[in-house]
Amino acid sequence: MNYKIAVIPGDGIGPEIVAEAQKVLDAAGRKYGFSLEYQELLMGGASIDVNGVPLTEETIQAAKDSDAVLMGSIGGDAKTSPWYQLAPELRPEAGLLKIRKELNLFANVRPAYLYEELKAACPLRDEIIGDGFDMVIMRELTGGLYFGQRHTTEENGVRKAVDTLSYDEKEIRRIAIKGFEIARKRRKKVTSVDKANVLDSSRLWRNVVEEVAKEYPDVTLEHMLVDNCAMQLVRDPKQFDVILTENMFGDILSDEASMVTGSIGMLSSASLNETKFGLYEPSHGSAPDIAGKNIANPIATVLSAAMMLRYSLDLDDAAAGIEAAVKQVLADGYRTGDIFSEGCKKVGTVEMGDLIAARI
Ligand code: NAD
Repeated sequence: MNYKIAVIPGDGIGPEIVAEAQKVLDAAGRKYGFSLEYQELLMGGASIDVNGVPLTEETIQAAKDSDAVLMGSIGGDAKTSPWYQLAPELRPEAGLLKIRKELNLFANVRPAYLYEELKAACPLRDEIIGDGFDMVIMRELTGGLYFGQRHTTEENGVRKAVDTLSYDEKEIRRIAIKGFEIARKRRKKVTSVDKANVLDSSRLWRNVVEEVAKEYPDVTLEHMLVDNCAMQLVRDPKQFDVILTENMFGDILSDEASMVTGSIGMLSSASLNETKFGLYEPSHGSAPDIAGKNIANPIATVLSAAMMLRYSLDLDDAAAGIEAAVKQVLADGYRTGDIFSEGCKKVGTVEMGDLIAARI
């Protein structure tokens, strides 16, 4: 099979880490019998430099015409880059928000996986870590408090601000379906996180998730209040498989979950729409401080590419092959600077890509 992949290298370390992900994808294609046709697109600062805007209609259309989008990261140093002298809607990040909206990417998936070899980076105690944890946070990305009506007023000298948290059942159903579908590809457990003891939107969330769960009898559903979930993530992270939650709760919990893994250069992410289409990118930013030095860790992008194979192209074996190759490279003692510890072999961005590709 041949697939069309839109590639957005972006800014900073973006081009370096995306090149390594493509190298690994091509190795997986040779081994598992598929091929990828890449179309490179400009976005963020790279697009501003050429087109004067962070995202063009041509880029949006080319992304829509592809089977999936693989992205590096966009943005520069806010203090020194001329991109940040521009109006907010012309800055690099505006391109990212716009492409998410244009492609209707309402479901954000962020895995938090602790590698045995990187246990030392985990801030939790050994007895809590046990033999590691492996969960994904499925966060609703286009509704809720961040998109509700808001205003600030002043009455009799007293300032007042209002934000609105609103969800309709369609928005909840489509993300719940994604959550259960992804749980089916994993350990078949969904923890739906809400604040149903207080919020109406959470009570509707819980009802709709229960309706969707009836279509997935092979997946176990449990509900958890968000305050309890924040505690459980550091008390016993092993209990989680898929955490399904609304926008703001997911924003906070996904950062908490990724921090307990301890290594920003390892964290992948996917943003999905109602079809199989998705945009895949590392969770970290464009790291302008280390750009062009061949020291960035490409693993988060490589793992995002593996997610692309699994969720958009249904190439589960190839995805697992890439993940196993990453594990093997770590087991063999190779580390980029950000995850380096005494006794390991330090390698650069390109060498890390070569080592992973060679183990596919
Ligand atoms: P950052 O994630 O780029 O960097 C934070 C720190 O982590 C830096 O010290 C950096 O060197 C290090 N780091 C990040 N990724 C690494 C990797 N793969 N290997 C080794 N070290 C790595 O966050 P920041 O500095 O706050 O942001 C830099 C730029 O990235 C900003 O312009 C910001 O807007 C942008 N950004 C973009 C995205 C995105 O495109 N989705 C996300 C977050 C930040």
